[in-house]
Amino acid sequence: MDIPRIFNISESAHRIHNPFTPDKLASLGAALRLESGTRVLDLGSGSGEMLCTWARDYGVIGTGVDMSQLFTEQAKTRADELGVANQVKFIHGDAAGYVSDEKVGVAACLGATWIGGGVIGTIELLARSLRTGGITLIGEPYWRQLPPTEAIAKECHAGSISDFLLLPELLASFGHAGYDVVEMVLADQDGWDRYEAAKWLTMRRWLDANPDDELAKDVRAKLTSDPERYAAYAREYLGWGVFALMRR
Ligand code: SAH
Repeated sequence: MDIPRIFNISESAHRIHNPFTPDKLASLGAALRLESGTRVLDLGSGSGEMLCTWARDYGVIGTGVDMSQLFTEQAKTRADELGVANQVKFIHGDAAGYVSDEKVGVAACLGATWIGGGVIGTIELLARSLRTGGITLIGEPYWRQLPPTEAIAKECHAGSISDFLLLPELLASFGHAGYDVVEMVLADQDGWDRYEAAKWLTMRRWLDANPDDELAKDVRAKLTSDPERYAAYAREYLGWGVFALMRR
């Protein structure tokens, strides 16, 4: 069981697999006023940077579930590096339907809300692991400006314009689901550059090392077109943020 190989190639050198920079991740942890010993569940935990740094900085106890074997291994290595392996656990597997044995104070899904079939489904899935009064974290794209055409939405890796909302609409949707938005930290274009542009060097090095791989043609095509495409579309149209929610 694994995610499509292209992601394991293009994001193999990423510690954070979303447009957040390390300082944004730290800001989010500070914004949540995490107390030492708080249990955190992270569905789609990637390479574990959120749980590992929050374990180090705020003393949280974390569990992450991720379908990428590579990212999960990287998360375990990172936990060792930061000296928090006794506080965090990383499980390789499908997080769809995953509910923790013990209730948690923070239940998160950052940049992987397809795991619960969309934002609302993921909020409901996370709620099954959350203690009363706990915080749900959702990391999700939104439109900074509406794409004028469906073709432009597709250039932003959206299936259609309706896949994402404008920021006020996204915040309102949490309210409609019965949740207060109690904090948010938004990515900026520098963060998007760190996420997207970091893939280019990784892909280039991978291509140089694996010219005969069956995916080499696809990776070459992506590396050739992605920088211009990204600058013209996603960088201008797409925002991303993490929203902290508490049930009303
Ligand atoms: N939250 C992490 C990773 C975001 S990228 C971070 O912010 O760094 C999306 C992640 O979802 C990837 O790590 C991918 O491997 C994982 N993923 C995709 N489908 C999944 C599934 N069904 N179950 C668990 N993880 C999944």
